[in-house]
Amino acid sequence: MQTARFGASIRKLHDSAIKDKKKSYECPKCGKIKVVRKGNALWMCKGCKSTFAGGAYSFTTEAGELSRRLAADYAKSS
Ligand SMILES: [Zn+2]
Repeated sequence: MQTARFGASIRKLHDSAIKDKKKSYECPKCGKIKVVRKGNALWMCKGCKSTFAGGAYSFTTEAGELSRRLAADYAKSS
């Protein structure tokens, strides 16, 4: 397996990114734990074949969650 070379903290970040990338995530549509990474920021559910745009190395990111929440609030208020 490839690894970041120099520095312990950068290696730690790299390892956790790879771990998140290989994990399966819960599908927001069908609820199965079958969402896998297909490409950069592209995620697909093996259960219902839906594709999602997500984070580059994990299905959801803090920034993504924030924008989702803001969009939901905006839809509620207007
Ligand atoms: Zn699904």
